[in-house]
Amino acid sequence: MTATIGILALQGDVREHARALEHAGARAVPVRRTAELEAVDGLVIPGGESTTIDKLLRAFELFEPLQQRLREGLPTYGSCAGMILLADRVLGGAEGQQTLGGLDVTVRRNAFGRQVDSFETDLAFEGIEDSVEDPLHAVFIRAPWVEEVGPEVTALARVENGPAAGRIVAVRQGPLLATSFHPEVTGDSRVHRLFVQIVRDSR
Ligand code: GLN
Repeated sequence: MTATIGILALQGDVREHARALEHAGARAVPVRRTAELEAVDGLVIPGGESTTIDKLLRAFELFEPLQQRLREGLPTYGSCAGMILLADRVLGGAEGQQTLGGLDVTVRRNAFGRQVDSFETDLAFEGIEDSVEDPLHAVFIRAPWVEEVGPEVTALARVENGPAAGRIVAVRQGPLLATSFHPEVTGDSRVHRLFVQIVRDSR
């Protein structure tokens, strides 16, 4: 059966994620209410502003139900602000900023600094087999990086060049996947395909 993957539709590139998920063979549906959250096999948390998404999750009474589903093992992919929301620990967060948690990492918000607010680079990505010969083009927009990973977390991609070389920008912990960058804007759906596979494997 086709996997149904929700996209948290409070802020961010909902349509672009839907297109990439469908291209990867899943059914994509927006999620704004708990009933919609209950009906999905996996969830994408798009980029945006993690502080705003945090507030909207509370306003829509989704924060606790989503945290509960994460604890139960809901496969979830967080991009950029979505990565921050999945992280157990945040450096450079706003006052009072909370995260859903579940991913045993420390992320640094807006890590690449003001001069490199947004940049693009090519990456090899573990779990995407052809990404060594055909690197993934990664678009970073005021992105976080992963500063520390717990023992259960695998680093899947690192910045390869420039001042941030070596920084971890993609991780996986069981059914949780997170990237600092925005694969939904490039037309390359390999990260989404990997996530769809994670969702299928966990069903
Ligand atoms: N800087 C944003 C934050 O802290 C994330 C940016 C993004 O998602 N593109 O939430």
